Amino acid sequence: MTSTPYADFHARSLTDRDAFWAEQARRIDWRTPPQRICDASRPPFARWFVGGTTNLCHNAVDRHAAVRPEERALIWVSTEVGEERVYSFAELQAEVEAMAATLAGQGVGVGDRVLIYMPMIPEAAFAMLACARIGAIHSVVFGGFASVSLASRIEDATPKLIVSADAGSRGGKRIAYKPLLDEAIALSAHKPAAVVMVDRGLVPFEPVAGRDLDHAELRRQHWGARVPCAWLESNTPSYTLYTSGTTGRPKGVQRDVGGYAVALATSMDWIFGGKPGETYFSTSDIGWVVGHSYIVYGPLIHGMATLMYEGTPVQPDAAVLWSLVEKYRVTVMFSAPTAVRVLKKHDPTLLKRHDLSSLRALFLAGEPLDEPTASWISEGLGVPIIDNYWQTETGWPLLTVAHHIPGVEAVPTRLGSPGVPMYGYDVKLLDEATGEVLAQPDQKGVLVIEHPLPPGALQTVWGDDARFVSTYWQSVPGRQVYSTFDWAARDADGYTFILGRTDDVINVAGHRLGTREIEECISGHPVVAEVAVVGVADPLKGQVALAFAVPREMPATPEAARALEGQIMKRVDEQLGAVARPSRVLFVSLLPKTRSGKLLRRALQAVAEGRDAGDLTTLDDPGALMQVKTLLQK
Ligand code: ATP
Ligand code: MG
Repeated sequence: MTSTPYADFHARSLTDRDAFWAEQARRIDWRTPPQRICDASRPPFARWFVGGTTNLCHNAVDRHAAVRPEERALIWVSTEVGEERVYSFAELQAEVEAMAATLAGQGVGVGDRVLIYMPMIPEAAFAMLACARIGAIHSVVFGGFASVSLASRIEDATPKLIVSADAGSRGGKRIAYKPLLDEAIALSAHKPAAVVMVDRGLVPFEPVAGRDLDHAELRRQHWGARVPCAWLESNTPSYTLYTSGTTGRPKGVQRDVGGYAVALATSMDWIFGGKPGETYFSTSDIGWVVGHSYIVYGPLIHGMATLMYEGTPVQPDAAVLWSLVEKYRVTVMFSAPTAVRVLKKHDPTLLKRHDLSSLRALFLAGEPLDEPTASWISEGLGVPIIDNYWQTETGWPLLTVAHHIPGVEAVPTRLGSPGVPMYGYDVKLLDEATGEVLAQPDQKGVLVIEHPLPPGALQTVWGDDARFVSTYWQSVPGRQVYSTFDWAARDADGYTFILGRTDDVINVAGHRLGTREIEECISGHPVVAEVAVVGVADPLKGQVALAFAVPREMPATPEAARALEGQIMKRVDEQLGAVARPSRVLFVSLLPKTRSGKLLRRALQAVAEGRDAGDLTTLDDPGALMQVKTLLQK
């Protein structure tokens, strides 16, 4: 049998859109089948599976518990507190129902918001699934955020109830959540009626009378309660989640129920190649979109066990992730380049210590995957490394290589590119200034998606349709397209290369350069562990590139630093041309990153131009920016 070229298959997903997604909709259970597959009549909004009623929790938990109750559903490992727990689908359902009864007992119902501010513990997943079960809209806020970031999210989501815990733990250090939460609620104009506290016994706390409730007590009270799934029209909001805030104020992405379930079920099969009964392991956090789509909902909807990990990739040693792959026979794994770069600083033989024969592929997403990092981990593990590009907004991969579509030719991976547009995404490259479609290979432009966005993508910005329209759909002149705000180029075979954020494009004496291209070139230098390039204003050239590099070893003397800088500049001259050469290469021990591990180039750029660094609430370590300031003053 001959197989269909992927490009033809992709084209069909767009030209025969409704039939294509109607087939995929069969992957999930519907209480009432959809009456209409896609209502795209009110651009830029789109409604998927209109009239169909379904429930995310039913699809993730109940339908599996009904047929194979004893099989593993949720595996929780904490190297922070030295504990492991395994929940079967039946056990997971019981926990979720007890949590759902707890929420319902506090008056939480369809459409009410529940904010979840939790460490990586099973109760966080129970709370998400319990909300999905009763139709409450969850808003998970990453546990690493402190009170100011949390307060702004409480104000935006206006939750009726908050679920939290006494503390998290990172690298053995306990982080008390309760004082941060109390402070955030005090700062916020909106006050939740109740706070359900999971007491892990890590840090003592004082409950607020009349507001704080004890989770263990409520769980006992409600244990055994049956809470039916609320059958929700497909377009009912399921959750809101804030973007990482790399480029400015985070946006509250709002997602639906039916489209999301169908999109995840399809991706689990075609993109990730997971099989029901196997174990999926994503190292992300439930506070991020990867945690929503590929720790909680995707694997469970697909009937896989999901491994939830509380801990760092390097404790008790840098082989801990691989020891978990071996122990739980993980078949599909998902992580981020940033985690791999951390491992890269350790002994490479640690990658060989464990039996990784169950593992079929490692997926990486979140930021550009540089070639040295990709090659290092691929050689070390001996499995394919699959880059995938997407956003909080899209909910599932937009660019990658789908290897598991029956009857369709697999697209081979190509180093440096996350891959090709996935089915359902009508992706174009546009000239930012004119809105013209760039159809020739190797032209650079902004990556956009034509209306309608596929199932699973954001419906709107929470509570702010106008912001949804003006932010995402009105940035290219004369065309109503969704902008990713990423800059890209496509080669003759359709592989897309991400060149940086549109804000990061540098204009040096009329030449438009993606900072990403320069970074890719510099990171190929054997001494460079990590690099960030930003454009800074220059009276002569308009802008010049400035590079901040983290060397494997700090140059011992100013002369050594100068010599290394010269070598790096020469490399850029040779590979990209003198226009791309940074005006300076400064060596730092740490780069400013968001809590989700993304480079905060806008902060670097602002500091380099002597401006205020702007909203830094998502910044991980303020020390990184201090270092840069000091260097620039020299
Ligand atoms: P904000 O939108 O608030 O500024 P953010 O864009 O960093 O924050 P996310 O949704 O977490 O928030 O990140 C999506 C972005 O991450 C993409 O738009 C892209 O810039 C980058 N990205 C994700 N995956 C990849 C990848 N595989 N290769 C290159 N870049 C990637
Ligand atoms: Mg973004």
